[in-house]
Amino acid sequence: MTNALIIGGGIAGAVTAMALQKAGIESEVYEAYASGADDVGAFLVLFENGVSALRVIDADRPVIENSFPAGRVEFLSNTGKRLGERPMAGTGEQDAEAPDGPGPRTMRRATLYRVLHDEATRRGIAVQHGKRLVAAETVENGRIVATFSDGTRAEGDLLIGADGIHSVTRKLIDPAAARPRYTGQNTVCGYTRDAKNPPEHGTYSMIFGKKAFFGCTRAPDGETWWFANAPGPELSRDDLAASTADQWRHRLGALFEEDNSPAADIIRSTGETIVGSNSYDIAATPRWYTDTMVIIGDAAHAAAPNAAQGASMAIEDAIVLAKSLRDQSDNRRAFRAYEELRRARVEKVVEASANMARRTALGPVRRVFRDTVLPHRVARSEAGAANWLTSYRIEW
Ligand SMILES: Cc1cc2nc3c(=O)[nH]c(=O)nc-3n(C[C@H](O)[C@H](O)[C@H](O)COP(=O)(O)OP(=O)(O)OC[C@H]3O[C@@H](n4cnc5c(N)ncnc54)[C@H](O)[C@@H]3O)c2cc1C
Repeated sequence: MTNALIIGGGIAGAVTAMALQKAGIESEVYEAYASGADDVGAFLVLFENGVSALRVIDADRPVIENSFPAGRVEFLSNTGKRLGERPMAGTGEQDAEAPDGPGPRTMRRATLYRVLHDEATRRGIAVQHGKRLVAAETVENGRIVATFSDGTRAEGDLLIGADGIHSVTRKLIDPAAARPRYTGQNTVCGYTRDAKNPPEHGTYSMIFGKKAFFGCTRAPDGETWWFANAPGPELSRDDLAASTADQWRHRLGALFEEDNSPAADIIRSTGETIVGSNSYDIAATPRWYTDTMVIIGDAAHAAAPNAAQGASMAIEDAIVLAKSLRDQSDNRRAFRAYEELRRARVEKVVEASANMARRTALGPVRRVFRDTVLPHRVARSEAGAANWLTSYRIEW
């Protein structure tokens, strides 16, 4: 039986292992960190395309049970003007039993990691922690040997790099591959129970502030979950680690204080649960595979968080790759089929996300233009314009 080495136990890694199992291919997951992510950090939305891809491998249920609906989105300008409101995507259907799924879901990123990891483990998939890939070479019999930073090795028929935006596998496949590009914004997330004007449960308020972009929603337990995209220079790893909740509050407070919106109050009311990160994307990665190695998810095509599609793309990749390996006679054919099915779509998402990132902080003239045009765009999407992003479905 074919044996795959999966590098990275994040979203793409866990889903790939489960999808390969469905395709009759054995795998083992090697994760760099000693344990799962802790539960303070970013949250994310999984749109219908991501949830429905999980349904292909019967892994949607635990994700739905550990998340809450993201039903509607409203857009506000920095002056407090309401620019429009519409379902988050597709039909905005919120019925878990609906034929097309339960609609978009919100959860912490760490929750998604944990749920997928637990589900993979429950299915008998081995996940080894503390295994950071540092090198890989194809050996005489055409198999691949991975070397980890603790000096141990593993051998398999193929290696799948699901090792995220700073992927080592990407560099092993193509040492000249472009490095992730800083988008010019820090993404900051926070959680508070003390906001004076929290958004409605299940509704996202998206606020085009004068100096930065802010979004928030409310969890079923009443907690407000928020994020801000704050323009500024890339922070070093040490600076990020040293940044305190107080410093983020101060910096963001200054960005939103002139706006007529709830953002400044929500930020002020937040205690210690604020985390910030640099936002990156990768415009294009020319080489996705060799005879024995292939990359998926953020390792191959990271999008800025603005379109909220990175996790869904990683899940779709994982299912399509497993299906290609099931259907093709050798690795190379399977990798080519996977790339043909995925490249155009994921690069379109990266571009769409980068455009959204650029639209969030505009000068006064372009702001007026945006605030005039956006209500018409929202009305058009409300009227059911086809959504190429979220209507994507995979036939197993
Ligand atoms: C602030 C923020 C908000 C976001 N919001 C959304 C959203 O709303 N919706 C959405 O769909 N997406 C969102 N995303 C994007 C989403 O989180 C990513 O696209 C997704 O996590 C990619 O999954 P992945 O499995 O490819 O990579 P990752 O989730 O990064 O997983 C990679 C794994 O590989 C491990 N690893 C790394 N290097 C090695 C190595 N050398 N050896 C072994 N293991 C290694 C890592 O520890 C990690 O566990 C957001 C991202 C950010 C930063």
